[in-house]
Amino acid sequence: MGFEDQRVAIVGGGLGGMSFLNAALYAGLKNVQLYEQAPQFGEVGAGVNITSNANRVLDAFGLQESMTRRSSRKLPCYMEYHSYKSGEYLGHIEEFSKPPARLLHRADLLDSLKERVPQSSLNLGKHLASIDRNSSGAPYTLHFQDGSTAEADIIIGCDGIKSNVRRDMGLGDTPNYSGQVVYRGFVDYKDLPEETAQLLRKTVNFRGPKRHVLILPIGNRETNSDRAAVIGFMSEPLEAWDSESWMSRSDIASLQEHVRDWCPQVQDIIEGLRKSSPDGKMLKQALYVRDPIDKWYEMGQKNSGIILLGDSAHSTLPHQGKFLATTSTDILLTIDTGQGTCMAIESGIALATILRHWKGDDLEGAFKFYQDLRKPRTDRVTQTSYDAGRLASADTPDQMTDNFNPGALGERMRWIMEYNVLEDLRAKGADVLDFHDSRL
Ligand SMILES: Cc1cc2nc3c(=O)[nH]c(=O)nc-3n(C[C@H](O)[C@H](O)[C@H](O)COP(=O)(O)OP(=O)(O)OC[C@H]3O[C@@H](n4cnc5c(N)ncnc54)[C@H](O)[C@@H]3O)c2cc1C
Repeated sequence: MGFEDQRVAIVGGGLGGMSFLNAALYAGLKNVQLYEQAPQFGEVGAGVNITSNANRVLDAFGLQESMTRRSSRKLPCYMEYHSYKSGEYLGHIEEFSKPPARLLHRADLLDSLKERVPQSSLNLGKHLASIDRNSSGAPYTLHFQDGSTAEADIIIGCDGIKSNVRRDMGLGDTPNYSGQVVYRGFVDYKDLPEETAQLLRKTVNFRGPKRHVLILPIGNRETNSDRAAVIGFMSEPLEAWDSESWMSRSDIASLQEHVRDWCPQVQDIIEGLRKSSPDGKMLKQALYVRDPIDKWYEMGQKNSGIILLGDSAHSTLPHQGKFLATTSTDILLTIDTGQGTCMAIESGIALATILRHWKGDDLEGAFKFYQDLRKPRTDRVTQTSYDAGRLASADTPDQMTDNFNPGALGERMRWIMEYNVLEDLRAKGADVLDFHDSRL
């Protein structure tokens, strides 16, 4: 049983879509095509932190060696906190469980996810414009901007927060500005004073007043790919922003303005950014989020359906509705606990396994089981990353409180990192999934 022979169309070849494609191959779905709008694969932004919960899945796909080759190695702890003002050490969170977090460039993660997938399943330059729901023949026809079409029985919308698939499903909500922008860039370690370079070989969070600067040490010395990824979360009004693009190249001076009176190490980072960036600019992105939705799928004729995965279903930026759509700078600034990609990786293996090993033949039952398995967890991640953000950028950043101390912060994240989606699938799927030829 299951839906292994159905024609599956993945819309979007970002980290979510490529994770699902890997999961589909791993689970044994036979007829899967991915459609990405860009003429070639690419990821903008800085580093990405892939934590143990997602690494378990990627290792099951056989990507451990590939990921390790591209990631930072032997980090002493999960995250270290420092005062924005003095640079003084405030505390740290231990690594949670194995496999440890892997920090790497986003494009490098995409390269790992590309390694095992056949070229014949990748379709580039395919911007989905609309979907026809047919009453006979193939249940769905996908129409692309270049005039071409494709047919499918199941469509997986992995097209991100601005998802066309989501809009096509009649979900006409618009994303909300979070009140936050994020500055992203890289610093070569050679462009930093030695002492600061040593410090930034760890994951470091300079915890400031309603803003913070996060450093991810990505890559490794062995492959000459080691750099400090700089992610500055700053509160800014939306005025003067082009809300269509949400992203621009900004003068480094703009970030510097926010951190002018911060500690010498942060000033070193600003100088390092200047030296490492030939045009004196860095990426600046306005962070948007959508309100959660109750249902991630719709059903079509003849056991067909459309379902959302990744940011199209649950953008995990660190905000909740009550703090949205403000242009005030006096808002609580939040931090992403970095789980959006990790959630998409977990969701990918869950959905692919369910589609492949579903005992019955009703697709709606399979979709519902998938959503019931995933939504409580992704909703909770969204909520707790908002809470964690309030602790990361505080009114009194140099003070430890009952909530802000390494032990308490670690405990807030433990349930995320220790979760094993493969075990959860085995346990909760025991009655509805047929595992006899499964690799789980
Ligand atoms: C500052 C910041 C830091 C973060 N750090 C982390 C981290 O450390 N760890 C972590 O796990 N997560 C992190 N995240 C979250 C993570 O980046 C996202 O959750 C993740 O990238 C979502 O992947 P996605 O594939 O669902 O969407 P996207 O990455 O948006 O990909 C969507 C893809 O669909 C394509 N597409 C869009 N429309 C169409 C169309 N009409 N037709 C065809 N293709 C289309 C796009 O070109 C794109 O390739 C971070 C996010 C931010 C903003």
